[in-house]
Amino acid sequence: MNDVKRTPDVDVVVVGAGFAGLYLLHRFREMGLAALAFERGGDVGGTWYWNRYPGARCDVQSIDYSYSWDTELDDQWEWSERYATQPEILRYLGFVADKHDLRRDVRFSTGVDGAVWNDDTSLWEVRTDDGATTTCRYYVMATGCLSVMKDPDLAGVADFAGDVYYTGRWPHDDVDFTGKRVGVIGTGSSAIQSIPIIASQAADLTVFQRTPNFSLPAYNGPVRPDDAAQINADRTGYREAARWSSGGVPREIPVDSALAVSEDVRRARYEGAWQEGTIFSMMGSFNDIMVNAEANATAAEFVRDKIRAAVDDPATAELLCPTTYPLGTKRLCLDTNYYTTFNEPHVHLVDLHANPISSITPTGIDVVSDDGATSYEFDAIVMATGFDAMTGAIVAVDIEGRDGAELRERWVDGPRTYLGLMSAGFPNMFMVTGPQSPSVLSNMAVSIEQHVDWICDTIEHLRASGHTVIEPTSTAEDGWVQHANDFADITLFPEANSWYMGANVPGKARVVLPYLGGVDRYRRICDEVVERDFLGFEIGGANGAEVNDGVICRVQPDVSIMLEMMEEMALPPLDSMSPVDARAFSEAMSAASPPGPEVGEVLDGTLPGADGNDLAYRLYRPATPGPHPIVVYFHGGGWVIGNATSDDPLCRDLCDQSGSIIISVDYRHAPEARFPAAPDDGFAATTWVAQHAEELGGLSGGLAVAGWSAGANIAAVVAQRARDEGGPTITGQLLLNPVTDGDLTRASYVENADGYILTRALMAWFWDHYADPDQRSDPQASPLRASNLADLPPAMIVTSEFDPLRDEGEAYAQALAAAGVDVHHLRARGQIHTSIPAVGALLSGAGTRSEMAQALRGFSGAGVPA
Ligand code: FAD
Ligand code: NAP
Repeated sequence: MNDVKRTPDVDVVVVGAGFAGLYLLHRFREMGLAALAFERGGDVGGTWYWNRYPGARCDVQSIDYSYSWDTELDDQWEWSERYATQPEILRYLGFVADKHDLRRDVRFSTGVDGAVWNDDTSLWEVRTDDGATTTCRYYVMATGCLSVMKDPDLAGVADFAGDVYYTGRWPHDDVDFTGKRVGVIGTGSSAIQSIPIIASQAADLTVFQRTPNFSLPAYNGPVRPDDAAQINADRTGYREAARWSSGGVPREIPVDSALAVSEDVRRARYEGAWQEGTIFSMMGSFNDIMVNAEANATAAEFVRDKIRAAVDDPATAELLCPTTYPLGTKRLCLDTNYYTTFNEPHVHLVDLHANPISSITPTGIDVVSDDGATSYEFDAIVMATGFDAMTGAIVAVDIEGRDGAELRERWVDGPRTYLGLMSAGFPNMFMVTGPQSPSVLSNMAVSIEQHVDWICDTIEHLRASGHTVIEPTSTAEDGWVQHANDFADITLFPEANSWYMGANVPGKARVVLPYLGGVDRYRRICDEVVERDFLGFEIGGANGAEVNDGVICRVQPDVSIMLEMMEEMALPPLDSMSPVDARAFSEAMSAASPPGPEVGEVLDGTLPGADGNDLAYRLYRPATPGPHPIVVYFHGGGWVIGNATSDDPLCRDLCDQSGSIIISVDYRHAPEARFPAAPDDGFAATTWVAQHAEELGGLSGGLAVAGWSAGANIAAVVAQRARDEGGPTITGQLLLNPVTDGDLTRASYVENADGYILTRALMAWFWDHYADPDQRSDPQASPLRASNLADLPPAMIVTSEFDPLRDEGEAYAQALAAAGVDVHHLRARGQIHTSIPAVGALLSGAGTRSEMAQALRGFSGAGVPA
């Protein structure tokens, strides 16, 4: 017991001495901590130490892809080109290492094989391949996102009699392909950079392509004067702007959709992006390239046209055109003369989809062909087959955390991290640019510095507060994994079999690996975690541990973005307006919203309301042959605002997805017509529609009611009245965020009183315009108060997590179920009161909308579509 060594050999072990490891060593030294780095390579440089293949260079401009922590470097180092070559970047990192005397803290040519957390000592025991063990308090994996090569998974490689080169482990001596027959396998960034240069040397070059990539011209050359002027005008400001940009490079963010402009405008924008020669330009040319397949297709086709223009042979050009995934969902490439290389007579392209490789042979490569096999003979083969990205280097180490938990096992279904920085069960272990952080989707120099700063500042905080151990909670980790996946789900990234998705490595879990929310948002989140007293962490030491459990980012990502935009617009609250102004305001907002899907037919008409006056209705008919089931729908708007137009996108969506006729009926608005005008109109309209079902093209014998918010309140009341007044027959009720009670004191009113568009104050304003206080307990105003809830039609009740009305909707669901009604309740995670109806604008509500449509199909007995 007593000989347990509680004093570590060093304060920190760092694994890796690339961009990240070097900056970590510098910061730890500044903090007065003893840090030791282990590096498998023979020198500093990481990526730039290993990837020495011909043509290797950065694809983020060197003025951006460089350190900002040492401001002297801007004067001491001048980049010779926009995109520096590998030797120049390696020299730069060597220069930084020399300048700060960092090599003395690195043990080179030493790999870390294992790391075990010792709960007794609260230390990590780090095992290296020289047989030694080093103990440390903090263990930092600066092992790189693209540092472990993927096994090319090809039979016979060892039999090849010629030379085999791997781009990610290129020899240090010059490789000369002059006069040789060379085969290159792969067409990712490494291949695309090296192929033109290998072609310029080789006697014959054959490229084996499985999936073509989108590549843009780098237009490399001296740093462009405009770019230099921009950075030199205010270097500090420029670096700060990079930290708060979405990709780690300052640039304007477009606000318009590719589909909202003319073909000419779109092509002009793409041509500008093409000429810019950066990887960010094309994806960032409109605001929806990475979220809308149709928008993306316009950019993809522009690039394909460029490929067709560059390559002489039309068949080769078509083979080089990517068609199976959206642009940008596989890492875009930047090239110099890639496509035109295929115009040279000694350069050939083999399509591995048509002719897969069967094996590497002693003389070359055999592919399957129509007549059995075709053999290609080579003197050298280049494997440009990529990496086990983002998780490969982390799970390559045997990491054992608390209670013997093995990280590799924990991550078998995909990585689990909090902020991409730490993992629950692995105290004091940090990852630089770990999975679920922006990392590879950004200028890595910026993301690495942010992570190093966060890690070092956190360790500083621990020391200052007398703590020694930090670990994320599993709640926080689950929440972050969910948030990262939610972000991915509203983008096109999951559509590609890319290394971003882990899809390039057979057997690897297919989950999105980088965080898609952008560098700026991510930095804000990391800062917020700290400001909220390390939300989601357990922090402890000799005097015990404190847990600050919780989840950061609970609102759906697109809803969050919308809320931020609205906050920036500083719109006046509706409850500060007159009802007339509030209606005009709401109409202007509706006019600016994206339309819903096309339906077979939309008709406007009138029907008699409860007081004999005409009520407008809008009928949405599916494109499929009728007759169709009918749903009478009531719009939202607190009985004061709204109309068929405000809820038009949702009605279209419900019509399209459920195959029902949706009849969106108006009802008299308060305060001009107060309670009970709205439910009276609702009941009259439903009765009229039931009587005219066949004329309207619908099925007779029953209809469903539906509504959102106050409209759902009316739908619920109509269902009760139809039961009590002998018809019409209501087959089901779909209630989205319903008002069911005039009690504004429930917990959801307190938790979500403000900040989620429908505020407590606005709801009070609606009620005041609608009903006197003594009327609010009437079941026709508050259907939850009905003395009898039995024998009501089946219900689907959707509530939103961040809605003041959430709890009364849930109370109604429970009360209906208790009364024996068939109820399906869905609480929409991360949604707010107004987000589910925002068809076209907010993608995260799509799943809930599908379930709602499915419920409508169920009410009509149509079931789930085949
Ligand atoms: P790395 O540079 O990968 O360094 C990690 C080091 O850890 C490696 O040297 C490795 O040997 C060592 N290591 C790993 N595991 C162990 C272990 N168990 N024991 C001991 N040592 C270990 N990003 C950009 O932003 N812009 C670009 O232009 C760009 N170009 C790139 C070009 C290429 C060819 C590649 C492959 C990547 C490129 N990247 C680019 C991404 C690049 O990886 C990062 O920009 C950055 O270099 C990563 O630095 P790092 O220190 O985090 O990791
Ligand atoms: P990559 O993008 O993963 O490309 C690997 C290529 O090899 C793909 O074309 C892949 O085809 C193919 N491939 C893999 N296994 C194969 C097999 N068994 N048979 C046939 N083909 C096979 O890897 P990379 O080119 O090394 O680039 C990885 C990342 O590193 C880049 O995306 C980028 O982030 C970074 N990088 C940057 C630069 C730069 O310009 N600065 C340069 C190089 C690398 P499939 O697509 O069909 O899987």
